[in-house]
Amino acid sequence: MEFQRRQWLKSAGLGALGAAGLAGGAEPTKEAPEESAPRSSCPTAGEDLLLQDFRPKSMLHVPETRVAQPRFPVIDIHTHMTFVTKSEKGVAMGEEMTPLTTPEKALEVMDRKGIRAMLNLTGGIGKGLEQTIDTWDRAHPGRFYTCVQPRFEDLRDPGYPQMQADAIEAAAKAGAKGLKILKTLGLYLREQVTEGPLVKVDDPRFDPMWEACAAHDLPVAIHVADPEAFFLPIDCTNERWDELGHHPDWSFHGRDFPSFQEVMEARDRLYARHPKTQFLSLHLGHDAENLGFVSESLDRFPNMTVELGARIGELGRQPRASAKFFDRYQDRILFGTDAVPPPAGEATPQQVFKDELYEIYYRFLETEDEYFDYAPAPVPPQGRWRIYGIGLPEGILKKVYQDNAVRLLGLDA
Ligand SMILES: [Zn+2]
Repeated sequence: MEFQRRQWLKSAGLGALGAAGLAGGAEPTKEAPEESAPRSSCPTAGEDLLLQDFRPKSMLHVPETRVAQPRFPVIDIHTHMTFVTKSEKGVAMGEEMTPLTTPEKALEVMDRKGIRAMLNLTGGIGKGLEQTIDTWDRAHPGRFYTCVQPRFEDLRDPGYPQMQADAIEAAAKAGAKGLKILKTLGLYLREQVTEGPLVKVDDPRFDPMWEACAAHDLPVAIHVADPEAFFLPIDCTNERWDELGHHPDWSFHGRDFPSFQEVMEARDRLYARHPKTQFLSLHLGHDAENLGFVSESLDRFPNMTVELGARIGELGRQPRASAKFFDRYQDRILFGTDAVPPPAGEATPQQVFKDELYEIYYRFLETEDEYFDYAPAPVPPQGRWRIYGIGLPEGILKKVYQDNAVRLLGLDA
């Protein structure tokens, strides 16, 4: 079998492509030496095994609970149903929007999976925002809510700070439910928008914007830092080797990037300076690997809440610490997934908006199942580990699934 496969690959010109792909992307040639033909994707004893081909099947015989429905209705506070169409070097440009699905299709998943409502964070700017709110929120009252985004491309305008504050007021009047800050702020936005030195998270030009959010009761869904490993060299010690291999642009190591620590310090100065502004710190306060630090942050900043989006892989590999964290901060943790509809979402299986994703979140929160996948994917996409359920009591579950979001967004219970 193996011989036939190699012959076929070679004659199809794919033999060298496989090898070149591994070596870094040279052009394929038809004159591939026999030894450069790719090995089987499932090597057997005596053959070399590449990490990418290692897909061990767990031999544990443990209970597997399918949680098709959540114990209480769910509000998913972290989704991306639409995106600003154009962006340059990580900065959104213009008002044109691209929907990633239709409200009708999204509602099918929501109705099947017990999701009462979703907050679409990337709702756009100006006319784009109004269009998102019309198509989603107004057409399906109580099911979709939308966040506005800053118009970063106007940063150089001397009147920007006030213009941006006014835009928050206009967005609130148009029906926006929050402000979304992508990691554009701190890691992409530069003094000349796409060129020059990076703009810091606590840059004073945004102070009127944060204050406007407080004045108009718009919580700020903020994402300014990524897993700690994204700020470290991509080498054999990096636990997110696979994930960074698939998304090399997610690495913030080197060049002129700040360290993880510097970003967090800027974020802390921001939170301290705007105590009336509510900051929903996405992805478990940007540091799900360090619940001690997240706890300190929550203790220090009463205006901070967190959500779970794309971080049950972290929480579920430290189930005892996570259960204690949920118990202690049960009024300040919101359910979120960072869901992106397919096909776009398929590139990040830990976020793909489909039934299986929600069932994994429910299983993690509601059961004490052991050692299961945190994403619907053949290989764990964020790191090669599995997770353990934390079996939350009903009182905490209800708060995390719904009550805390109802309070933050000012919805009717
Ligand atoms: Zn997100």
